[in-house]
Amino acid sequence: MTTSEPVFPNPTSRRDPAHSRAETNPNDTAPESTWTLNDARELYGIQRWGLSYFGISESGNATVEAPTPAGVKTIEFSEILDGLKQRGLDMPVMLRFENLVDDRITQLHQGFASAIAKTDYQGEYRGVFPIKVNQQSHVIAEIARFGERFNYGLEAGSKAELLIALATLPSPESLIICNGYKDVEYIDLGLRALSMGLQVFFVIETPKELPMILDRAKHWGVTPCIGVRLKLSTAVDGHWSRDAGDRSLFGLTTLQLIEIIDSLREAEMLDSLQMLHFHLGSQVPNIRNVRDGITEACRFYVNLIKEGAPMGYFDIGGGLAVDYDGSASIDGHSRNYDLDEYCVDIVEAIMAAFRPHGIPHPTIISESGRWTVAPMSVLLFNILDVNDFQPQPLPDPLPENIHSSIDFLIDTLRHIEVRRLQENFNDAVYYRDQARKAFQIGELSLRERALAENICLTILHQIADRVPEMTRPPASLQSIKDSLSDIYYGNFSVFQSLPDAWAIQQVFPVMPLQRLDEEPTRNAIIGDLTCDCDGQLNQFVGTKSNTNTLRLHPVVEGEEYCLGVFLVGAYQETLGDLHNLFGDTNVVSVRVTCEGKLEFVHELKGDSIRDVLSYVEYQTDELFSQFEKRTDTALSDGKISIAQRGEILNLFSESLRGYTYFEQ
Ligand SMILES: *Cc1c(COP(=O)(O)O)cnc(C)c1O
Repeated sequence: MTTSEPVFPNPTSRRDPAHSRAETNPNDTAPESTWTLNDARELYGIQRWGLSYFGISESGNATVEAPTPAGVKTIEFSEILDGLKQRGLDMPVMLRFENLVDDRITQLHQGFASAIAKTDYQGEYRGVFPIKVNQQSHVIAEIARFGERFNYGLEAGSKAELLIALATLPSPESLIICNGYKDVEYIDLGLRALSMGLQVFFVIETPKELPMILDRAKHWGVTPCIGVRLKLSTAVDGHWSRDAGDRSLFGLTTLQLIEIIDSLREAEMLDSLQMLHFHLGSQVPNIRNVRDGITEACRFYVNLIKEGAPMGYFDIGGGLAVDYDGSASIDGHSRNYDLDEYCVDIVEAIMAAFRPHGIPHPTIISESGRWTVAPMSVLLFNILDVNDFQPQPLPDPLPENIHSSIDFLIDTLRHIEVRRLQENFNDAVYYRDQARKAFQIGELSLRERALAENICLTILHQIADRVPEMTRPPASLQSIKDSLSDIYYGNFSVFQSLPDAWAIQQVFPVMPLQRLDEEPTRNAIIGDLTCDCDGQLNQFVGTKSNTNTLRLHPVVEGEEYCLGVFLVGAYQETLGDLHNLFGDTNVVSVRVTCEGKLEFVHELKGDSIRDVLSYVEYQTDELFSQFEKRTDTALSDGKISIAQRGEILNLFSESLRGYTYFEQ
């Protein structure tokens, strides 16, 4: 990976007071802004993706609308930011709202309960949370606690996750679904737990697992509960669609399924086959795919009963999607259904498929991870610096006869017209490139080249300003504005905290947390701290479709400007990596009480530099003594004094203990 090179050179730092808020002071000749809070709501799309959990207050602050047993209580993010500061928790912070996990778990169970009641479905619903979606111990503890009243269970995809499930679930009625490849130890753990009265299901992913399970079950004298994971042929729209279909990595083919039935029958263990499992993939955007998958799976279920298996459990996996961009479409970042429709469609599809066969309705299990935990977390970070691509004021009068390329650029600048914008654009870029070539062969000085770049930038800004006057602007001209946008540098790492934004170009809603009553006048992309050109956010939720830039406010000198990235509770925390050795962020869980008070319930300090160095196998004590030797040499060479040596060593060891991010 390479470091980024700006599209246009000469960025000027916008930390100077000329760009402060005074710029839009009403005393200026600029027209008074007609900006309203509703404009902010519309621009950032908060009503479309905010799930009624997030809003904007009259004072222009982002808010969380937390459901509590005493109704919805509003807290401003500014209060949360103050609380973090008082606790000495630096940005970036991964903030979790307990109320939102609680509410989602409740909604999920109520959604299925009401679909079941409405349709007179004869079975029940049992949810399980797939641990891989957010394994953080505090999150799992909250899920276990809030889920207890519904006997909400856990899905494990590995031995480590099974250990978490076995230890944390408070109710023995909760289901534990064991997916993933299983070795003897994994199987033994599940079987011993079964004999303790826990509800453990083994989902068979490959035919090789069955003989092992039967063998160990015989050894311990336990009757296992077995499920089979199907490879459905139903295809799924969107980005995350590789979990289903013929070539999906997981699940049994029809031939393998028959092999399993025959082996079970031969071992006189067909009674253990109680569950059918499938997982269409995460983030299924189109409800039609869900229905098709259910209908196909029902055919298998009916036939397994005909083969003599008792069955009883129908596990539809995960896939319930989050509307990240608020478009309510079948685009991969969205979905064309809501929870109620999802639940009703599933229940009805099963009933319709079973009706001709008179088969009892099974217990429906779902493994919705993303939908359950995405809303609870918001990544908070502050902006450290801004680069804009504004031209400098041009010399007056403009110098002539320096070089033909500069003369042509000046000529282009003097002839910008709406009907010739494309031509103006082509000329500007062409003569700028001529000037660059002239610099390379020594015909232009450094300052002359800077003049050429500056004139070109001036032209591009003027073109971008006039593009909206065109009746049908070509795409190449429309994108000029994006390529001239500011870069806001945020105190975070995309790779650590938003890995899917990098790996699969996922769009997350991003919004300033303050000044929302003020019109955002800058167009920006967001760069992170990693000095990697991939360490940026350049896809945002737009009003009609997703956009490449985000509108933000000019940063005011001496005033913290904070952004929130929303809906990041699923998958982001554990997929994150240590690119450039930026470690785990500070994590804070808060709860809003029935009285509408904010409580900080859990704080977890992020990695120190010492921590991340040890992850990549450095012995930090050894690093310290190596450096200490250097200071000794510098001391004996007379380069530093003994007192300075002490200070330098202190600085080194303090840095080892410090946060990996930018500290104020
Ligand atoms: C990943 C996974 C899930 C969770 O999917 P979501 O889209 O997050 O709901 C559920 N079940 C299995 C088997 C999975 O692999």
